Amino acid sequence: MPHHTEPLYRPPSEADSLIFQITEGCSYNKCAFCGMYIDKPFRIKPLDDVLVEINGIPEPYAKHVHRVFLADGDGVIYPTAELAVILDALTAKFPAIRRISSYAGPQALMKKSAGDWKLLREKGLRLLYFGLESGNNEVLELMNKGMKADKLLPKVQLVKEQGIDFSVMVILGGGGRKLSCAHMEDTTAWLNAAKPKYVSLLTLFLRRRRDYFDSIEKPRVGDLTDEIRRFLTGINEGSMIFRSNHVSNFVPLEGVLPRDKEKLLARVDEAEKFLHSRGMLDKYPDFYEEF
Ligand code: SF4
Repeated sequence: MPHHTEPLYRPPSEADSLIFQITEGCSYNKCAFCGMYIDKPFRIKPLDDVLVEINGIPEPYAKHVHRVFLADGDGVIYPTAELAVILDALTAKFPAIRRISSYAGPQALMKKSAGDWKLLREKGLRLLYFGLESGNNEVLELMNKGMKADKLLPKVQLVKEQGIDFSVMVILGGGGRKLSCAHMEDTTAWLNAAKPKYVSLLTLFLRRRRDYFDSIEKPRVGDLTDEIRRFLTGINEGSMIFRSNHVSNFVPLEGVLPRDKEKLLARVDEAEKFLHSRGMLDKYPDFYEEF
């Protein structure tokens, strides 16, 4: 069976997938809000080791694998020609495979060409999870995200043109109280232009690294519900499957945007009334202190 090193993360929607590590850690690992791989040095696993792990998966298990998620933090940073060999080996190993996905960091998106993505699509790569976090460049700079949203947009469009879908993650509260409006205005404008297949909201929370968290004026519960409303209102293009089902979200929502906007806004109003009745709108979410 595949060998895993901890900590190991995957998106909520990959809960039933085979999680297969081809890299360890994150090739960037400098985002000020993210401590996911803070103690885990980045490493690209040698191709021969990856192939041995794939070949070692027992046949009775292999025939039940429908989806594979390539871990860790930005699996597609793997050199393209070798990644194509890995994708070939996975599709040969798993006869029922329907989807191979990975997290994609800005570095891989900036680095790889249209030809690279075309090849990876042909070999079976179908979906990239991309942490945009914010469409506002000031927020991204404070986060030390190492990218500008406007520079990434054409790269994302180029990958989509090769037939690879995107699931884009946005951080609710990511701009703090001060940049809340600009954060959501620019994020929804970016999403309206990119039109990803999936979009999800996570909420800013403490995750083993305090730098960013301590540098902003933290939003209270009421600020966050306002921000959700601005987010929902701002999406006007495409047909995005929307989820806020991450463990950090206190208002779980799901639907298709912009189609289900009114229904989702009504759900936010309902949740806000409940939070107001409990005197919680002026409080900080619990997970600011410990999560
Ligand atoms: S948010 Fe993503 S790109 Fe940034 S350090 Fe964490 S894993 Fe790496």
